[in-house]
Amino acid sequence: MGGMRMQRLNNGLEIPRLGLGVWQTDNGTEAIRAIHWAFDAGYRHVDTARIYKNEEAVGQAIKQADLPRQDIWLTTKIWNDDIRQGRATAALEESLRRLDTDYVDLLLLHWPVDGSVAAWQELERALEAGKVRSIGLSNFMEDDIRKIIGAGNVRPAVNQIEYHPYLVQADAISTSDEYDIAITAWSPLMQGKFLQEPLFAEIAKRYDRTAAQVVLRWCIQNDVIVIPKSVHQKRIVENGQLFDFELAESDMVDIDNLERGHRFGPDPHDFDF
Ligand code: NAD
Repeated sequence: MGGMRMQRLNNGLEIPRLGLGVWQTDNGTEAIRAIHWAFDAGYRHVDTARIYKNEEAVGQAIKQADLPRQDIWLTTKIWNDDIRQGRATAALEESLRRLDTDYVDLLLLHWPVDGSVAAWQELERALEAGKVRSIGLSNFMEDDIRKIIGAGNVRPAVNQIEYHPYLVQADAISTSDEYDIAITAWSPLMQGKFLQEPLFAEIAKRYDRTAAQVVLRWCIQNDVIVIPKSVHQKRIVENGQLFDFELAESDMVDIDNLERGHRFGPDPHDFDF
């Protein structure tokens, strides 16, 4: 893997800039096949969560793959109920058992709910115990990030937020930048709606690329890690070909100008789960 494929985190570890997202992927053959296709296509990073209910299949896929465990970046997340109930450590143990591994590379607090500061302190202990290599946040906005920074000893390595050309969440990004917290984009392909935006197809044509590759490459050139989801081999391969072309500044700016504060997922300031 070339240097461009990796991004250095504030804890010194290098995370692959491309991962496979497995939300809404069945806990069986569907996930196992998708992950193996991704590995064959050069992906070395899988993004799951307890709430996706497919950690068993993710674990099996990694076990059965022809790759050493240390070559794979595995992320999972602590679900909101576990954060609220003060059982982050127990939830991590359960995830590790389902994933059939001794450690995860990144453990995130999935949403900023009551109890997240105490949960963060549990994550710090898991880090010390070697059960996780990095710890981070997901869907944490400015005030939530500052609360964790104020109470914790370890800086979050990553903040995983909804991010795509229609929604860049500048406040969360600038607060993350302040603490050198890397950004991972969830729903980088706008949950498939990128197909309805003619600009991507227009740019793609000029580069002899696809619209999906243009959107994902725009994220990468903004130093944002991407975890596109697909269970189809052709799309998984396509979404992985991001490191052999570069968008010109003028195309980057044209895509930047699509920003409209439009969410495809829940609002971290107003959610009820
Ligand atoms: P996405 O933006 O990655 O879009 C995926 C959809 O786009 C697919 O289901 C498919 O319909 C379409 N698609 C994918 N590749 C395509 C291609 N090459 N051509 C045409 N269509 C294509 O959506 P997502 O699954 O919401 O987000 C990606 C990952 O982010 C998830 O799988 C999950 O791992 C993570 N995520 C995290 C959170 C969080 O709260 N932390 C929330 C949502 C998603």
